[in-house]
Amino acid sequence: MIRTMLAATSFAALMLAAPAMAQQIDFSKVEVKTTDLGNRTWELEGQGGNVTVVVGDDGILVVDAQYPEMHDKLKAAIAAISKAPIRYIVNTHYHVDHSSGDALFAKEGAQIVAHDNVKKRLAEGVTNALTGAKTEPVKGDALPTKTYTSGKVDLPLKGRKYEIGHINTAHTDGDTYVYVQDANVLATGDIVSLGARYPNIDVAAAGNVKGMIQGLDTYLKLANDKTKIVPGHGPVIDKTRLAEYRAMIVDCRDRVQKLVKDGKSEDDAVAAKPLDDIGAKLGVNEQANANFVRLIYRSLKTA
Ligand SMILES: [Zn+2]
Repeated sequence: MIRTMLAATSFAALMLAAPAMAQQIDFSKVEVKTTDLGNRTWELEGQGGNVTVVVGDDGILVVDAQYPEMHDKLKAAIAAISKAPIRYIVNTHYHVDHSSGDALFAKEGAQIVAHDNVKKRLAEGVTNALTGAKTEPVKGDALPTKTYTSGKVDLPLKGRKYEIGHINTAHTDGDTYVYVQDANVLATGDIVSLGARYPNIDVAAAGNVKGMIQGLDTYLKLANDKTKIVPGHGPVIDKTRLAEYRAMIVDCRDRVQKLVKDGKSEDDAVAAKPLDDIGAKLGVNEQANANFVRLIYRSLKTA
């Protein structure tokens, strides 16, 4: 009984708060699904965060690298698209389901590009604010090889046009998006995370619901009615769906904000169950509702 309860609790917490640990996944069964998004741009789904592939005349830019166990499968899927060399792996953030595959691509000559704070978080390690789960520090050769501080980073590929920019303290403090202008594709990282889940807000890495909403506003400005939006997790969506997702996050924020203004403690805010109807629509359990209340509460208490 205790064992079952523990398992249920940690599973629920994991679903919200942390990417699955690699050792819990049977990678042998994972197949990579390739979706053509048009104009030499593809989405790959395997295990972990969605991958976006941008093929130029002189090389390939790849957004996120999933797990090391996925390297050979991703590499094969990319080779089936183009024989050009993989020049850049861009990390949308530091979480292992997006970045732990970096090192193997780096060994093969790719530059690993991320915001400064990705390198910092990877080098130092992070303890999850809700679960206490540790992301262990990673060693030198697995760290990004090119980082940028703020604004945008320039990574040229011949024949392609895109912008790569930073969103301040949102899902984490090192979030990067890639907007591929010439294919009208936007890779958002985990600021957009769809399916039967709330997005995670990694408050231990200075993530904040306010930054999430600002990031979504940036994405809504970049996108138009034809933009194909590749979320960190879940299916490719359009701008209308993105606007609905933003409205859901804002609704959650407003409900928790009211409890904060009423002077409720974090535990009282959780006990008030402000998100239950939203959670029911998403198809998540009580634990996920409680976790999301806590993450928003802590966000709002951060200056
Ligand atoms: Zn993430």
